[in-house]
Amino acid sequence: MTLEMAAECHPDRIAAACGERSISYAEMLRAARHAGAQIRASGCRHVGLLDINSLAAPVALYAAACAGLSYVPMNYRLTKPEIQALLERIAPAWLIADPQLLEGVEVPAGFTVVDRDQFLQDALDGVGADPEAVQAEPSTVAVQLFTSGTTGAPKAAVLRHENLMSYILGTVEFGAADEHDAVLVAVPPYHIAGISAVLSSTYACRRMVQLPNFDGQSWLETCQREKVSNAFVVPTMLSRVIEYIDASGADASLPALRALAYGGGKMPAPVIERAMQLWPAVDFTNAYGLTETSSTIALLDPEGHREGFNSTDPEVRKRLHSVGRPIDAVEIEIRDEDGKPLPVDAVGDVYVRGGQVAGEYLGIGSLLDANGWFPTRDRGYQDKYGFLYLDGRADDVIVRGGENISPGEIEDVLRQHPAVVDVAVVALPDEEWGECVGAAVVTQPGVKIDEAALRAELQTWVRERLRSSRVPAVISFREQLPYNEMGKILRRVLRDELSAAL
Ligand code: ATP
Repeated sequence: MTLEMAAECHPDRIAAACGERSISYAEMLRAARHAGAQIRASGCRHVGLLDINSLAAPVALYAAACAGLSYVPMNYRLTKPEIQALLERIAPAWLIADPQLLEGVEVPAGFTVVDRDQFLQDALDGVGADPEAVQAEPSTVAVQLFTSGTTGAPKAAVLRHENLMSYILGTVEFGAADEHDAVLVAVPPYHIAGISAVLSSTYACRRMVQLPNFDGQSWLETCQREKVSNAFVVPTMLSRVIEYIDASGADASLPALRALAYGGGKMPAPVIERAMQLWPAVDFTNAYGLTETSSTIALLDPEGHREGFNSTDPEVRKRLHSVGRPIDAVEIEIRDEDGKPLPVDAVGDVYVRGGQVAGEYLGIGSLLDANGWFPTRDRGYQDKYGFLYLDGRADDVIVRGGENISPGEIEDVLRQHPAVVDVAVVALPDEEWGECVGAAVVTQPGVKIDEAALRAELQTWVRERLRSSRVPAVISFREQLPYNEMGKILRRVLRDELSAAL
């Protein structure tokens, strides 16, 4: 286990810090072993977590591994009935929770509920007699993660130790960090980005600084105060940080920051370009991955960013908007709807294969084909240099009279209109053509608009630039789009709202 190696090499180095509190690698290993023994003795089958970022999260992850049980961190932003439904799917379990987040939730039978502060204290105090760890087999389930549910009801992706190890071994160098290195973990613990941040920080023997509640100001100030050297953000987080800097005129200097990775959703071009202007010495990396692939499968590396940013050649500049090339540990293929591989530059379905790809859901089993390929349900193409460009998700494609329409191309065109600040395009039911185009548009705050006139203007704007099938039949104006905390537009919610308005 990676934690054992880190604790052996750097027992006194700080493994994780949150606010004033920190624990060393030796303390983390001991705590995980004690808690693991206690949990195992309880007869529970899973270790659930319902908490924001805190020191309890990494200890719970490693305690589950020590107990040989699966770790199931849950999204605390879900509604009470949704949390209850997830709990029912993992009973009997040991549940580490912030009591406030459990308020109003009826915990099903078979649960041992432990206050997260008590859990951490007991683990650090060595409650739980036998600190001998169970050696988890590579095929043992390590983590079950409910996906964001942006395209439907959340599915629990089943990740085994061998999948996670394959990812870590392929992307992180053991012990690469020195004692000054610190990684800021601002993504929530229930997302694959939160899990991979803990695992890669441990493997690199880095100090992990946890940010319990993200906002632009606290992210920036924590980076400055803790001398953060590495960080990962989703696009909306980076937007918030930049908005805060631009609105407040705050000191944006981050002299310790060396590497800033981002992913989890499409990064708007102006945001990354502004970030590269603000922090020219920082190495930027765009990481494309899914829960089902144990995180990153393709990367646009710092060199790709610099080339794209500095070049005047449109072909090279465009790379800044790609998700880079597949990492060495995986293969990526673009296929047509019959599953046949497509040539370069042709848009199709993105498939991936490799040791880190689980492609398995709780209660559904493996989704890999006979040759081990997993359909990501993302659409995209690869150019002749191997750069991968994403073009929305298969579930979001609008099928109008048999023609496939990508929401992304319509969104890109609408975004170029000066009145449009943000936009999302979704498929709406249409009696004649099966589906039609619906658009939700956010305009400049505080600027009064004539909705009917702007609607007609935007329809003309699209008609002048794209084929007539792309013109939105419905355009609704909103103050903001429904994003989840990982920065993904909840298209399901928008579809329902816009359909109701039809
Ligand atoms: P659900 O499957 O329930 O809708 P989800 O797919 O949103 O949830 P995740 O595994 O968190 O759950 O998201 C993976 C998806 O996020 C990818 O399939 C891709 O569409 C998008 N994504 C991830 N990284 C990037 C990136 N760097 N650039 C653009 N999109 C990305």
